[in-house]
Amino acid sequence: METVLAFDVGGTKTSCALVANGKILRKKEKATIGSNTAEDFVQQIFKMGQPWIDKADKVAVATLGLVEGGCWSAPTLNLIDGKKFPLVKKLTRLFHKNVTIVNDAQAAAWGEYKFGAGKTKDMLFVTVSTGVGGGLVSNGRLITGKTGLAGHIGHIQIDPHGLECTCGRKGCLQAYVSGEGISFAAQPYHPGATTKNVFEQAEDGKDWAKDILHTSASLLTTAISNAKSMLDIEIAVIGGSVGLAKGYIGMLQKEMLKEDNLYSVKIKEAILGSNAGLIGAASLD
Ligand code: ADP
Ligand code: ZN
Repeated sequence: METVLAFDVGGTKTSCALVANGKILRKKEKATIGSNTAEDFVQQIFKMGQPWIDKADKVAVATLGLVEGGCWSAPTLNLIDGKKFPLVKKLTRLFHKNVTIVNDAQAAAWGEYKFGAGKTKDMLFVTVSTGVGGGLVSNGRLITGKTGLAGHIGHIQIDPHGLECTCGRKGCLQAYVSGEGISFAAQPYHPGATTKNVFEQAEDGKDWAKDILHTSASLLTTAISNAKSMLDIEIAVIGGSVGLAKGYIGMLQKEMLKEDNLYSVKIKEAILGSNAGLIGAASLD
């Protein structure tokens, strides 16, 4: 049985694990370093993984940002050397093992497909968290795309004159649906409100909070249906702290009932939680 040293590099934390056949054998986490160079990220990954590398047959990294031909770009981190950084080459030299890298939401999609809630050949994974990420499995294959952009459902533009997105474009879905979008929309009603506060207020029966969550769920449901019209996906697996917050999946399912059967997609809850990226990256061929 193959053992993989897997990493999940996120904006706030980096996880490192030994994974075999979809199971986490050992795992540790550290706050992701705040640095403006990609080289420092490499060093952090190497230091975390070095004590376990002898137990691994290969290395797999799920990371935020875009992955293209073994190179990594992370526009949101503003790294000096962070455009098409040769991450695979650097890590191969350090670990002396085969290294694969993949976008974190794409990895999570693959994890949920292989070992989680999404065991059907055509599925979409959506994580609703600080932002909105996604990954696509089509006919049993992970679709990454030439530039690594495939599955980024959060950056579908729904209003060219709309709210500014973290990617620099205006009116991306993420700006309305995500945790940041939800708390932003709440400010006029409840200055300083967090996303969690909005969920609490909605549970308490406040119409303004219910409306904000309804908008988020309704826009995301439409985007998922649109994805079906392009790719004929059967199910959408939902993860992320907002996606898994109490009541959110129920709202998506309710909104989906309004869709014509042809465009309707079954909504399921992700089951691998924060391990989806590690497990998915580790089980890519
Ligand atoms: P990450 O983006 O790294 O997954 P977190 O999980 O800490 O970060 O938070 C992501 C987003 O989810 C934030 O917008 C946060 O406010 C929101 N969030 C976290 N926990 C909850 C919760 N229990 N209910 C609703 N929203 C939440
Ligand atoms: Zn965007």
